[in-house]
Amino acid sequence: MKKTLYILLCLSVSISLISCSGKDSKVSSSSIENNNTVAGSNVTKQDDSNLNSGGKNSQSVSASETKEADAKTIDDKTKNADTKVDSNANANTSKVNDKTPNQQVQNTKPETPKAPVTKNNEVIVLDPGHANKSNLDKEPLSPGSKEMKIKDGGGAQGVITRTPEYQVNMNVAVKLKELLESKGYTVVMTKTQNSQSLGNVERADIWNKVNAALVVRIHADSAEGASVRGASMLVPAAINDNTKAIYSDSKKYGQIVLSSLIKAVGMPNRGVVERNDMTGFNWSKVPVILVEMGFLSNKEEDKLLSSNDYQDKLAKGLADGICAAIK
Ligand SMILES: [Zn+2]
Repeated sequence: MKKTLYILLCLSVSISLISCSGKDSKVSSSSIENNNTVAGSNVTKQDDSNLNSGGKNSQSVSASETKEADAKTIDDKTKNADTKVDSNANANTSKVNDKTPNQQVQNTKPETPKAPVTKNNEVIVLDPGHANKSNLDKEPLSPGSKEMKIKDGGGAQGVITRTPEYQVNMNVAVKLKELLESKGYTVVMTKTQNSQSLGNVERADIWNKVNAALVVRIHADSAEGASVRGASMLVPAAINDNTKAIYSDSKKYGQIVLSSLIKAVGMPNRGVVERNDMTGFNWSKVPVILVEMGFLSNKEEDKLLSSNDYQDKLAKGLADGICAAIK
């Protein structure tokens, strides 16, 4: 009897040893994945610098045909001359995953397994532009600036449908919020009612406080010429301590999201435009972009922008772009 018991005991110990070694091998493969992730983010940083140098080839564009999305100073019609279109938009942004860092795979030293990175840590702020009434109060153009600018001069209106811009902006923002939440992001809206009339400093306070990974300001455009059409992406110029810190990421994200939007809706691409005169940009401490989804002053684009189906497409294109930018 004693001998049988001894054999059974030995068998049980060896089974338990086999089971532990199985766990060890799981830890190793998980640490390899983590190493790959770190290497991938190094590659992203290198591509950043490529994008910056690409920006030097930007060509000037007249902004006089584009009505400002942000509130305008009344006598400020000439300050946009320094806006630029990055003709190299979207270059180099898709190659991040092409490089295989083989040397990292050899480092199989066991590490404490880390919790999987989820998108739940990333807060995306959506900022639907304009309210159903203008707000002519003024606020400083940037921190410490003596130049005051109107909070909300009111948005555009569809030339055929008469749809107000704030309605298009809010509709797309609500659809985009749902899509992003379904992909695991935390989404904060600066406003949920068209009657809420916020200044740009107030909006920036909201996204600075939640330390957003990305702020997407949602607008539709308007121009004097009825034939002007297409989508563009406005990003901050590096003009103060805030914008110098967010310039590079904002531009990179702007290029990625605009590229995705154009692919989704097939609209003419008007490029990424750096702006130094947008109060909401100048007060932002986190990456921020402003999409102009098309022209309500153009008959065809007005009809598209005002339709539910097209708004779905816009939201999908923006969501895919945000996912590609904020992984
Ligand atoms: Zn607008």
